[in-house]
Amino acid sequence: MKSLWNDKEAANFSGDLGLRVYTSRLLGREPSLVLHGGGNTSVKSKETNILGQEETLLYVKGSGWDLETIDKPGFSPVRMAHLLELARLDSLSDPQMVNELKTHMTLASAPTPSVEAILHAILPFKYVDHTHADAVVTVTNSPNGLARVQEIYGDAVVIIPYVMPGFDLARECARRFAAEAGNNTIGMVLMNHGIFSFGETARESYERMIDLVSRAEDYLAAHDAWELPRPAGPAPAATSRCEAIARLRRQVCDAAGFPVIVSTHPDSQCLAFARRGDLETISQQGPATPDHVIRTKRLPMLGGDVAGYVQAYKAYFDEHAPQAKESKTMLDPAPRVVLDPELGLCTVGRTARDAAIVEDIYRHTMDIILRATALGGFHALPAREIFDVEYWDLEQAKLRKGGTPPVFSGETALVTGAASGIGRACVDSLLARGAAVIALDVNPAVTGLYARPDYLGITCDLGEETQITAALEQGVRAFGSVDMLILNAGVFPASRRIDAVATQEWRKVMAINLDANLVLMRETYPLLKLAPGGGRVVVIGSKNVPAPGPGAAAYSASKAALNQLTRVAALEWGEDNIRINTLHPIAVFDTDIWTEEVLASRARSYGLSVEDYKKKNILKTEVTSHDVAELAAEMCGPLFARTTAAQVPVDGGNERVI
Ligand code: ZN
Repeated sequence: MKSLWNDKEAANFSGDLGLRVYTSRLLGREPSLVLHGGGNTSVKSKETNILGQEETLLYVKGSGWDLETIDKPGFSPVRMAHLLELARLDSLSDPQMVNELKTHMTLASAPTPSVEAILHAILPFKYVDHTHADAVVTVTNSPNGLARVQEIYGDAVVIIPYVMPGFDLARECARRFAAEAGNNTIGMVLMNHGIFSFGETARESYERMIDLVSRAEDYLAAHDAWELPRPAGPAPAATSRCEAIARLRRQVCDAAGFPVIVSTHPDSQCLAFARRGDLETISQQGPATPDHVIRTKRLPMLGGDVAGYVQAYKAYFDEHAPQAKESKTMLDPAPRVVLDPELGLCTVGRTARDAAIVEDIYRHTMDIILRATALGGFHALPAREIFDVEYWDLEQAKLRKGGTPPVFSGETALVTGAASGIGRACVDSLLARGAAVIALDVNPAVTGLYARPDYLGITCDLGEETQITAALEQGVRAFGSVDMLILNAGVFPASRRIDAVATQEWRKVMAINLDANLVLMRETYPLLKLAPGGGRVVVIGSKNVPAPGPGAAAYSASKAALNQLTRVAALEWGEDNIRINTLHPIAVFDTDIWTEEVLASRARSYGLSVEDYKKKNILKTEVTSHDVAELAAEMCGPLFARTTAAQVPVDGGNERVI
């Protein structure tokens, strides 16, 4: 592992806390040191308070902050003198400790200090860095881990046997550090947990971390436990996996009691791991470091036996809950990691971001397991210790922090024609309500609309059936299924009277506005049927259906046929709890078709200003893409739970429709 310290970069940061921010970010940049909120750092700094008194403060990472993106407000200033007195107590419960930390900060708006604050305080160094480095936990979680750590580090580190994070760990570290630290001590290894380094400057502490972790990496390399062969497992089956994935996801949703995203990763790392002969042994030991448990649960599920997994989880809870200090309420028993010889790795989360975090953690876990296996075996902490962290009130608080999830949390919507206009607005309205979105458009710009884990843009020509099924497969692998379908894509050819309509043009309009929607409905039907909250389809129709105009024969006929298809679908799919409703917008002007020139010429032909032309309806109001999209999203929500086959105009009121 290389130091990422860069003098030029470092020059942008000044002061004790500034440099603390800089090297914390350097740690955060290396995923094999810390992942998603893991690890913490601190600096001890003298400051003068409002009364002119000088006091020493511990700036320690606040909970909820990620080292990679941390900034000054992410550090909580706590009075050192009080922390050192706390460290002398015989015992301190977790809620008492949190209370003491929060009431002895000097900035009311600072986040809750890390639960490892007292541990940071007792180490007599200005800067303290803590990570869950992959290489270190690999060594500590292998046979004779303790002896190996001694061999690697000699007197450079003090070794702490596993103690759950919190006050007791801080006390144990204080005791051992006082007894064992010498002139050469630059760090501390916490068995089955991680590593600390410290120093008088930010750079010294950071580079000692890099040095200590490199020694563990070198040790693994010297024992043939570093390079991991990645056999390219047999390619995933060519047949569609959509239904199998959606069925698995539905079972996981039922076990969880809420909708979840399931991301499937059939690459060679995951397939090779999931197909190992010793999978049953190596995957069922436990997490690499205890705090992963709140993301991954203690064990992955092997194959598709969700009921068996739930039963085993309940047994684990029943076994360990009675021994806890306070009474515990069982968390949902659904798996977060699934290993399957056909699907590879599947990761589960309440949101796509959560599922992506689980993926990151488990990819590192697989490598840690394989390297420890090369050293003779991967040994995690006993279930009892993991249970204590999983059901630790302070860890639970991190998860509860989110509050009530948004209405479509854990659900996935597929939107066609998503690169612009109403389709794009639908993407926004659905994302805003917590859905993951599969966005299809023939315009490749759709792929770059957003870079966020809950958005997948796919270039897709709806005129090609194979492109539709391929896109669906890709979308289901990303999110686990399709719960909502927004049929929006359509073409609007130039105005032509019937005697001038070319057969080719007619067919093209029918192909996109009608045929493609049949294919989408047919192919998503098995998925919609499995939606935990019932499938929902919203069709973007047209005012042309109830009130056609001259010169738009192909468009009006295609939308009218789609309307009839929708009505039949409502009849056929009601028994599967799939609702299908239609919106009939009138010309929505903030779309690509309505360039300024087109608008101006249309307005002129009616003898109106552009402004008045846009509001040419009974309510004298403009209808925007956003207006249509918001209604489309609501039609998928609880307000429309008892409505199917509705046709709702969004046109500002139109005499011919009324
Ligand atoms: Zn830790």
